Parts: sequence; C-alpha cells; structure tokens
Amino acid sequence: LIEVANLKKSFGTNEVLKKISFSMNKNEVVAMIGPSGSGKSTLLRSLINLEQIDGGSISIGNEYLVKDGVYVKPDGIKKVTGRMGMVFQHFNLFPHLTVKQNLEMAPKLLNLQSAQEIENHAKDLLDKVGLTEKAESYPSSLSGGQKQRVAIARALMLNPDILLFDEPTSALDPELTGEVLKVMKDLAEESMTMIVVTHEMGFAREVANRVVFMDGGEIVESNSPEEFFSNPQHDRTKLFLKKNL
Ligand code: ATP
Ligand code: MG
Repeated sequence: LIEVANLKKSFGTNEVLKKISFSMNKNEVVAMIGPSGSGKSTLLRSLINLEQIDGGSISIGNEYLVKDGVYVKPDGIKKVTGRMGMVFQHFNLFPHLTVKQNLEMAPKLLNLQSAQEIENHAKDLLDKVGLTEKAESYPSSLSGGQKQRVAIARALMLNPDILLFDEPTSALDPELTGEVLKVMKDLAEESMTMIVVTHEMGFAREVANRVVFMDGGEIVESNSPEEFFSNPQHDRTKLFLKKNL
C-alpha cells in the first residue's frame, strides 16, 4: 500500500533521511521506534506531504506523490494525501471549536456528504472513542487522553486508508495513555493500516505486525515484534533496547 524508495531529506546541511526505502501492506500495523532526532517524524510528515523531500519516491496504492524527486501535480498530491489521516503528539485540535465541530470541519469543507451524513458519522466516531457526552465541549475542558481520542476520531472522519500516529501518547500523563492505546488497538483489530511512531514498547510488541527501528536517518532494522525484541540483529538496536526496555 505504501512504497518509499530512496527517500532523501535534508534541513540545510543536516541530512535527516538518508535514502530510506520502506514498504508496507494494507492492514499492517507498523511501530516505528528510534532515538530522538533519528528522523521518525520527518518520515511520517513526508508521507503526508507536510515536508517536501529532496529525492526518491513515495507512492500510496499505485499513485505517486513524488517520483524520483519530482512531485505530481497538486490535484494528484491531494488525491494521495487524502488517503491518510494523521494524529500528532500535541493533538492539534482547533481550540475555538467544539469537539463535534472539530470532527465536522474537514468533511464540511470538502462538501462530499450532506450535513446529516457528516453529523451521523461524527456521532458514530465519538461513540467509538467513548466521548459521546463531550460532543458540545471545547478542547480546553478535556483531559489529554480525551483530546487525543477526539483527534483520532477527527482523523477518521475522512475515512482514511492509512492512519499515521506521531507519538500519540508522549504528551499524556501515564494514567491516560491506556485509554488512547486502547482506541488504537481497537483500530488495529478492525484492520486499519497504521504507522505508529511510539516509545510504548508494550504497544509495539502486542499490537504491531512489524517493528521498524530508525537511527541516524536510516532504517536500521525491520522485523516482526517477536524477532525484534527477542533477537535484535544490530548493535544500535541492541543498545536502544537496553536503554528503553
Ligand atoms: P523525536 O523522537 O525527538 O521526535 P524524531 O526521530 O522524530 O525525534 P525528527 O523530528 O524527524 O526526529 O528530526 C530529525 C532531525 O531533523 C533532527 O536533527 C531535527 O533537529 C531536524 N529537524 C526536524 N525538523 C526540522 C525543521 N523544521 N527544520 C530544521 N531541522 C529540523
Ligand atoms: Mg518526532
């Protein structure tokens, strides 16, 4: 479903992604882990076109976002990025909108469904993340865990084929991470295709089909969780696991 080939990205002279190649299938859950500054966020942001890459190719399904460093036309970019939703560490909810309005904004702007359909969809998704009673609340009155569940529901409003999560629980108090991980686990069980950048090794081990370890702008190792945790191949992986398990 996702194909990345020889992706290169620098910020000035800082080469952040060094010829990354990566692919994943539909219904796969990939946990992406690695030290701070290894390029995990930049890779996710490149997939959804929040960063422009310097070389290489990205395609989703059979559609290119960028091929050999050349981006497709703007309507093609929208077509590709529209298949993905993203959830950020700091929620990025619109503070001046209620929970319900946060969910309904993007679909209303796109104008592909009736107001009634959009409202019903928002209701269903709030129910799914356990926040039906918060529909009329503003983000400022929610806990971090609730905010993140709203952000997940919002990302689902456009029926993405792929969900990207960038450290969705890193800003949360420990007692609130469980409720967010539970929603993500439910999505995985419904066969949602997901890439999850996370420090939650338990989640990587239990929910992911594959663990990808990044270090220094490279994918150092990519393996099943069983293999990855019990039999890491590379010294850099071993060192990382020693520090983080
Ligand atoms: P963390 O675990 O801390 O979130 P990460 O693996 O997500 O780290 P990135 O945020 O992708 O790492 O950053 C990779 C490198 O790119 C770092 O050296 C960072 O300083 C640099 N970088 C990221 N975004 C920018 C930017 N907008 N401008 C300049 N440098 C950037
Ligand atoms: Mg990051």
